[in-house]
Amino acid sequence: MESIEEHLSEHGVKPTAVRILVWKEIINHTETFTLVDIQEWMPQLDRSSIFRALRLFTEHHLLHEIDDGSGLQKYCVCRCENESHLNHIHFTCLQCGHTYCLVQYKIPLVEMPEGFEMEDAEYVVKGICPKCHNKR
Ligand SMILES: [Zn+2]
Ligand SMILES: [Zn+2]
Ligand SMILES: [Zn+2]
Repeated sequence: MESIEEHLSEHGVKPTAVRILVWKEIINHTETFTLVDIQEWMPQLDRSSIFRALRLFTEHHLLHEIDDGSGLQKYCVCRCENESHLNHIHFTCLQCGHTYCLVQYKIPLVEMPEGFEMEDAEYVVKGICPKCHNKR
């Protein structure tokens, strides 16, 4: 298994101490997270260092960015098996506000009109999650 340093370097990210710390923490999470979540998990780090690390990871395709309409930028760790880096579907619960990664469900490929080249797409489904559904 490759080390964190190798993984980051391979993606063009220089593995500094802060980046390694942040990466070590976020890979434990299989669902989406926000800057605020990471601040809570790692109160010893300052907000701007975390933010810069997140931006860098996103630019280098280590993270996916999700805009679920909550106004809070959410991220999830890229676990894409292929090079296309086309994101999986996300599910936002209208009750608890949690955004789930449905990693088994890929965004369907849509045919583009002549001259339009697709690079990325976002697919957020909204509804009620199983946890909230059971509480009803
Ligand atoms: Zn990806
Ligand atoms: Zn819910
Ligand atoms: Zn995700």
